Amino acid sequence: MSAHLKITIQLLYVFAALIISFSLSAAPQHDPVPGGIALLTLNDEHIASSARYKGKKLAVINTNTQAQLLVGLSLSTKPGNHFISINTRQGKKEKIKFVVKPKTYKAQYLTIKNKRKVNPYEKDMTRILSEKKRKSLAKKHWQDTPVNSDFLIPVDGRISSIFGLRRFFNEQARRPHSGLDIAAPQGTPIKSVAAGKVIESGDFFFSGNMVYIDHGMGLISLYAHMHEIKVKAGDDILQGQIIGTVGETGRVTGPHLHMAVMLNQTTVDPLLFLPQLADKAALYFKSN
Ligand code: ZN
Repeated sequence: MSAHLKITIQLLYVFAALIISFSLSAAPQHDPVPGGIALLTLNDEHIASSARYKGKKLAVINTNTQAQLLVGLSLSTKPGNHFISINTRQGKKEKIKFVVKPKTYKAQYLTIKNKRKVNPYEKDMTRILSEKKRKSLAKKHWQDTPVNSDFLIPVDGRISSIFGLRRFFNEQARRPHSGLDIAAPQGTPIKSVAAGKVIESGDFFFSGNMVYIDHGMGLISLYAHMHEIKVKAGDDILQGQIIGTVGETGRVTGPHLHMAVMLNQTTVDPLLFLPQLADKAALYFKSN
């Protein structure tokens, strides 16, 4: 084989690897339902330099020839036509339509032994309200760094609850389940799903020991009920870095990781970022 041909073949491999790694720089799954994500692809002259949905900035994955918008849809989204406002790279303003489909979520009934975590005392309310402010600030965090949406599984364990279930604690209606629960023994390491920056961490009344990580452009992951927290606000985190361990702090029925994902200040189904968990999710649906 001539040296020239060898180099050409090597270049082809590099090129193929680039294409593969590019297509793997994974956007989440497109599932335009309440609690889901609309993944909108824009071509050529429609490529957005910035985009908003209901006034909130959206994560944009840009390449030379197309752009993908990640639109988080809250559980209260009404099925039907919805619109995105974009500013194109050419400086034009446009509206893009997409359709939200209906989805119904099952109910879940849980018994919590620590009744104070269901009906807090009067004196707990000051703490709960100040934590609510911290949570809402973390949710609104925005950093302009490119979005890291290619997630790995944070904990090796069994899926014990999924996103969106309409919840009843000790037979009292509470807010729907905002994340994915993975049951594992106390002390099991928890990995960051992607690279990012820790923007909040601490001991919360309902969520127990909790960490928020910003993955760029409004994509935020959170980890709750931890036994130990091994990072602090301001830390830069690598994908897969151990940020703490599984525990049963806060309002829980046993040791597990509660993991949640936010996009454009909206909590969405984490499973849309974790197609690797499809088999475990199927097992969960089979027995629930
Ligand atoms: Zn949970």
